[in-house]
Amino acid sequence: MTNPLAAASSPRTYLDANASEPLRPEARNAAIAALDQPGNPASVHADGRRARSLLEEAREQIADCFGADPAGLVFTSGGTESDALAIAALGQGRRLLTGATEHDAVRAAAPDAAVLPVLPDGTLDLDGLESALAAPGAPALVCLMHANNETGVLHPVEAAAALCRRHGALLHVDAVQSAGRLAWSLAGLGADSVALSGHKLGGPKGAGALLLGRAIEGFRLQPATRGGGQERGRRGGTPSLPAIAGFAAACVEAQRELSRQPVLAALRDRIERRAAALGAIPCGADAPRLANTTCLALPGRKSEAQLIALDLAGISVSSGAACSSGRVSRSHVLDAMGLAALAGSAIRVSLPWTVQGEEIERFLKAYAALAAGVPVRRAA
Ligand code: PLP
Repeated sequence: MTNPLAAASSPRTYLDANASEPLRPEARNAAIAALDQPGNPASVHADGRRARSLLEEAREQIADCFGADPAGLVFTSGGTESDALAIAALGQGRRLLTGATEHDAVRAAAPDAAVLPVLPDGTLDLDGLESALAAPGAPALVCLMHANNETGVLHPVEAAAALCRRHGALLHVDAVQSAGRLAWSLAGLGADSVALSGHKLGGPKGAGALLLGRAIEGFRLQPATRGGGQERGRRGGTPSLPAIAGFAAACVEAQRELSRQPVLAALRDRIERRAAALGAIPCGADAPRLANTTCLALPGRKSEAQLIALDLAGISVSSGAACSSGRVSRSHVLDAMGLAALAGSAIRVSLPWTVQGEEIERFLKAYAALAAGVPVRRAA
């Protein structure tokens, strides 16, 4: 396997997969082939029908990767739109409950939701969920992420789903970070709907999907964009066929490569062992979590200063709380885990599918200089 980033004249070390995975070659090829299709999938002529058949092929491939029914898959622009679409539709007439460590895509779509506590390891407090579900009021819509984008910590989604069923609640799962990194199916999770994002598993940016479980397939979604009745009236606008074709190819490839996750876990563990010896504290490391993610707090060192120093050394990582404005704010995830003292001093290192052992060494060398307070130099 070749790392496309290593081919650049001034190689950088890209360890920010949870922000966006490098494009997979299979996804690039599929996207380029789709770019050459002139037809609109809504047109009735032969070119339109060819575009339509590519769209439906992609729908079937993605649905198949997650054991979903293609008829219940709605293409969107990405994870944020999928979360918003699900919450607007499924939340009608329901109380909203969201986990304390959810991504802003969910927090912004459910600003008045009651917040469910997490345990100190970052996993959902199931007793807290049970009491919230049992509280008087309308039945609930519970929104939970499968894997956390900052720490990689996995919520016990299957157990939460069983509680939701017992209390007549619906469950929306944001699986943007776990798709292509863990084996799961829609029915296995017990979710009513699931949000996916193409670029988080090695597809092009600009395509995502909402998977709807059989029980709610017929639910009326309330699309933010209406128009040509695309996606069976559930999301208006001509779909981005190249991004969707690339998304489907990336899904298939990521699923095929799931067996490589233990290699990523070993590299992640190497980072944590050596970083801990330098005084760093890995956050959420006691919980079940993604293989590719570590959240390292360096007490007394501001996240932003760490990011800048590593960037100057040619290394791309992020503060889990970096928002779209590029500002670095304190992490609400670490706050919720009771790690307020570390919330301003953590960085997220998330290993991409392309990662190589020497990139880990380059990171560790720069991190050691950072921890020792000496100027971090760019590797030759
Ligand atoms: N949900 C989670 C857990 C995420 O990590 C992200 C992006 O970081 C999103 C949703 C938003 O996805 P997108 O960038 O495709 O809109």
